[in-house]
Amino acid sequence: VNYFSMPYLGASHYVLVPIATIGCGKTTIAIALNHLFGWKHVQNDDMDRKKNEHKKGFIVPGGVKLRTKTEWFVYSLIEGLLHPNSIDETEPNKIKRAHVVFADRNNHMFRERKQLFNDIEISIKQCNEETGNNTSTSNVSRLIKFIGIHFKHNKDPTELEKLKNITRQRILSRGNNHQTIKREFLGDEKIEEIMSGFCDRFQAPVRTKPTNIDSRFDHMIEIDVSDQNSSRKNLEFIIKDLHAVFPDMFTGELPSQEDIDKAIGFALKT
Ligand code: GDP
Ligand code: MG
Repeated sequence: VNYFSMPYLGASHYVLVPIATIGCGKTTIAIALNHLFGWKHVQNDDMDRKKNEHKKGFIVPGGVKLRTKTEWFVYSLIEGLLHPNSIDETEPNKIKRAHVVFADRNNHMFRERKQLFNDIEISIKQCNEETGNNTSTSNVSRLIKFIGIHFKHNKDPTELEKLKNITRQRILSRGNNHQTIKREFLGDEKIEEIMSGFCDRFQAPVRTKPTNIDSRFDHMIEIDVSDQNSSRKNLEFIIKDLHAVFPDMFTGELPSQEDIDKAIGFALKT
């Protein structure tokens, strides 16, 4: 299905893929990165709001109907890769600027990661073929770089309990300020159960063999949810790591310590 009329594969394309559970700081970090660099933030949780409309199906440019949350999520990611709204049309260097999207959902299981890789690649390939772009299929897929952001979950149950405590506290103190997980409606016990379930199903990325699903990742960033305020430190680590490995993701100077403080402050207020 060709959702997109104008493929744009002149620049580098990056998909940031958190591998995490609820409360690890995905949305906080995504908002801060958007604030600092204009990278597109696509939130799976936002898709829920449109649930009723989903049932009817959504018409997008190209006349295609999207019916599921996942289709919307992937559509929004590809749209961000092809037509990033932060690009200034008058900017002479826009061709060189990287297109970066943050795939904000847990992606905590192999099948979620596999689905993300497949759906994005298949859509871009089809779109390219239909518009007569003669870049070979394998090249097209390599033009999109997938970067994992692995929020590590210790296998040891007592160690894992620490992460569960930190994230549970964060979510409970957030109260009702979330699209889908509302304290008032779910109650603390239910929230704890949901969160714990995600942690127990967590499948850490495995990239030891080329046949592993996670071998599709071009790069993996490893971070810890070590304390309540880990997002500031994790944001800085992610920026430094990305800059070292993919400098073309950035234009101009890297943000200062103060810029990073402000971006996290902004994200925590949002
Ligand atoms: P997600 O479920 O992975 O998207 O987690 P969020 O980024 O939404 O974080 C969950 C809650 O914890 C939100 O209310 C955040 O504001 C809060 N939070 C996340 N990181 C930090 C942090 O480093 N410090 C503090 N004080 N709160 C944080
Ligand atoms: Mg979130």
